[in-house]
Amino acid sequence: MTETKYIFVTGGVVSSLGKGIVAASLGKLLQARGYRVTIQKFDPYINIDPGTLNPYEHGECYVTIDGHEADLDLGHYERFLNIPTTKANNITTGRIYQNVIDRERKGDFLGKTVQVVPHITDEIKRNIMILGNTGEYDFIITEIGGTVGDIESLPYIESVRQLRWELGKNCLCVHLTYVPFIAAAKEVKTKPTQHSVKTLQEQGILPNILVLRTETQLSENIRHKVALFCNVDENAVIQSYDVPSIYEVPIVLAAQGMDKIVLRKMGVPVKGKLDMTRWKSFLTNMKTAKKTVKIGLVGKYVELPDAYKSINESLLQATTYHHRKLDLRFIHSEKLTDENAAEYLEGMDGILVAPGFGQRGIEGKFSAIKYAREHNKPTFGVCLGMQCMVIEYARNVLGLENANSMEMDTTTPYKVIDLMEEQKHLTFMGGSMRLGAYDCRLEKDSIAYRAYQSELISERHRHRYEFNNDYKTAFESNGMKCTGINPKAGLVEVVEVPTLRWFLGTQYHPEYNSTVVKPHPLFLSFIEAATKS
Ligand code: GLN
Repeated sequence: MTETKYIFVTGGVVSSLGKGIVAASLGKLLQARGYRVTIQKFDPYINIDPGTLNPYEHGECYVTIDGHEADLDLGHYERFLNIPTTKANNITTGRIYQNVIDRERKGDFLGKTVQVVPHITDEIKRNIMILGNTGEYDFIITEIGGTVGDIESLPYIESVRQLRWELGKNCLCVHLTYVPFIAAAKEVKTKPTQHSVKTLQEQGILPNILVLRTETQLSENIRHKVALFCNVDENAVIQSYDVPSIYEVPIVLAAQGMDKIVLRKMGVPVKGKLDMTRWKSFLTNMKTAKKTVKIGLVGKYVELPDAYKSINESLLQATTYHHRKLDLRFIHSEKLTDENAAEYLEGMDGILVAPGFGQRGIEGKFSAIKYAREHNKPTFGVCLGMQCMVIEYARNVLGLENANSMEMDTTTPYKVIDLMEEQKHLTFMGGSMRLGAYDCRLEKDSIAYRAYQSELISERHRHRYEFNNDYKTAFESNGMKCTGINPKAGLVEVVEVPTLRWFLGTQYHPEYNSTVVKPHPLFLSFIEAATKS
């Protein structure tokens, strides 16, 4: 395709409708028609990135290969499209303003008043076009965070309005709204959708396609009514009703020809076939699996479904490939003690100890690991989870009483997990961890090597603390092996206890690297071990 096409996805009525999933699903369909697609998210908050946000505020923080702390929707984009994202795929209002203010200080606008329109909107437009200008993509899908009508999303909507004029047919707007079912009246209501489209129109945008989120399928009548009231073609009113898995959404949209509608509206001839073979076989596996595998996820944000999003999805993908159903149990680490660990963990086929920060719930993680180690349960520690495996081993196998991480206890006599050298003098919290993809060399005789089938791997990091190499010999001579090492820095990235069935921790985050068509080798290996429980 000669010209890059831009698709914008906005949301109305309420938040949490799944704009990210709709954007990712549409991207998947265009990709399955042979186009080169990427998806980017523009978030209207002032933080420079979500790295400093608590999971209670914003769910999981995703990390791109180039070390950007990003919105969790980028995880969906990667899982659906199976291509990596970068810092350019996620922009916040904070970054837009920072760029403009930096230029103002440099004197780029000398003599001029710097204003939201045109300076902020120009900067938003420039950022929207960055990936398109690389020539690497046929379609750039841009998800605008927040809900239409919010004060903070106004500059984004205004930028999209301007771009529609500039790009003409190469620009298309998809608006996602909600059609609630009022139980008392036994009726679905389209009024919120009408109001939301009206708001968008007041801001100068007439959406080309409407996606209606609903609990159940809508009648033709309802779609006809929405088309009529909202100035949208009837065939461009698409419904996205609740389905058991987010991975079914592309199929739901394809059944209504959304990919073809998009192509026709953008003047692209519809040719070729939609190739969703691998995707569909994944879904078939998911639906036909009978036996379950029960995994206990030990963490402190268990009441938040989005806090461990990428881990949940990686477990689901691996379980599906093993033709099992995932029975995922969230176990609150604050509730766990050495005394009650059996009660919570006995019935699990495998235990995953989650990443995290800070002291809260940490002792419960040690109890979970102690139980899992002593009962030879497949155990997977991710980042902080790996550090906890090391601390528990130090305390209970090496006999190093009160061993700890310097993050949790600066007075510990045995700092088996220590602050990385380059972290010691940092004063800025934002974007200053060890972030992004680093190489790791694997020991040939290890679970990790057998899983990856490769000696040199690259995985994404997000941490400040590390395994303290002063204790490496003590650990290795007592049975915990360091099987993955960063070849440049010598940092320990993987630990394992080979005498146990599957007991492995990674300092990196493998969960950021697992997609529907390419589940992560370590998750596959962990689930395989768990299926043998
Ligand atoms: N808090 C730990 C560190 O900073 C682990 C971080 C994580 O689990 N992502 O090293």
